[in-house]
Amino acid sequence: MPERLQAIRGMHDVLPEQAPIWQHLEDHARAVIEGYGYREMRTPLLEPVELFKRSIGEVTDIVEKEMYAFEDRGGDRLALRPEGTASCVRAAIEHGLLDQPQRIWYRGPMFRRERPQRGRYRQFHQIGVEVFGLAGPDIDLEVIAMTGRLWRALGLADLRLEVNSLGDADERARYRGDLVAHLRAHEPALDDDSRRRLSTNPLRVLDSKNPDLAPVIAAAPSLLDYLGEASRAHFDALCAGLDAAGIGYSINPRLVRGLDYYNRTVFEWITDALGAQGTVCAGGRYDGLVAQLGGRDTPAVGFALGTERLLDLIDTSAIATGPDAYLVALGDAAAAAAPALAERLRDAVPGLKLLMHCGGGSFKSQFKKADRSGARLALILGDEEAAAGTVSCKPLRGGGEQRTLGFDEAVALLREARAAR
Ligand code: ATP
Ligand code: MG
Repeated sequence: MPERLQAIRGMHDVLPEQAPIWQHLEDHARAVIEGYGYREMRTPLLEPVELFKRSIGEVTDIVEKEMYAFEDRGGDRLALRPEGTASCVRAAIEHGLLDQPQRIWYRGPMFRRERPQRGRYRQFHQIGVEVFGLAGPDIDLEVIAMTGRLWRALGLADLRLEVNSLGDADERARYRGDLVAHLRAHEPALDDDSRRRLSTNPLRVLDSKNPDLAPVIAAAPSLLDYLGEASRAHFDALCAGLDAAGIGYSINPRLVRGLDYYNRTVFEWITDALGAQGTVCAGGRYDGLVAQLGGRDTPAVGFALGTERLLDLIDTSAIATGPDAYLVALGDAAAAAAPALAERLRDAVPGLKLLMHCGGGSFKSQFKKADRSGARLALILGDEEAAAGTVSCKPLRGGGEQRTLGFDEAVALLREARAAR
């Protein structure tokens, strides 16, 4: 017996029965995001490894230990993308998109070699937006309001918003000094990662997932006390905008992001329903990244949401997974007429999901398949109906009589079933 091959650990198949729930989320996300005038961009899954080192940062978890990086047969150093922002920036520079403001969105798989657990996978999916060329708090507010709108569209009520400002480079530098002094004073309580980061990137210590460090982090100085006038005004305007829009939030002065490129506004949407993997959406401003990657100085802001974590929160019971109707055919004449009837019905009802039974079989076995398909209606074509140009229709969900219908009546019924989906 040949050995059976399996998917790579932490990488999952989305089976046909799960696909409608993914589509439900993706359709809502696309509708909400494009409702704000954002346009989709698709970039390759493979990029030069250098792109992520230079953007995300050499001393981040992602680049230090999570990236799938390898040399291809031509000797090029490549990486499966661990996130979407760096690729968007690269593409925007490469194609000269940055001479005017851009509102862009993307979706797709990302790859990080993390320890697989609930809400943490090695191939996972993000939907994200990136805005280029707009510097004010108004656009920060827009992207946050957009995410709030998406949660409402998806029926998610229990997400809380945390915001913070990382200030500008010189403000962070001043803060860094005081933070390092604080952390050095508690050095015995730090873990190896954090001790190492004291000299490489101390702000990252604030993002540590190690619960033992929580007291030290809670006692650390607050970044917000280090903001200069402009950063403070930006942050205050954002908070005022959130208040005016009725978007609830809390200020978390120790919120930093696991990537190096952020400045000023950062935010996360968090749920308590997923344990340690509670952040479903994270983003912020990264005004320095475009220039850092060789483009002209361009302010930018964006976010990425984790599809799998959101899917875990969505109430799937109301999402229709089956077709609108399942067509069964009994008798030779009916079986011969069924394909043409199915095509006429598809012509008449745009968007109709109609499954046609194939392969014959008894009424009972065909009907069982109709039921199992999850269809709302069974359409039954017998020889008699085929001759008369009619079709019988039986609701499969929620009861109701079987009725014989003319073509136009059948069309009307199918339109209703489609609209109710
Ligand atoms: P975490 O702190 O949970 O590791 P992160 O800071 O690494 O998250 P980002 O790089 O900001 O996450 O990615 C944005 C979102 O993508 C996260 O908020 C999360 O919802 C999702 N995400 C990140 N890593 C994974 C993963 N390995 N599996 C599933 N979803 C993920
Ligand atoms: Mg992470």
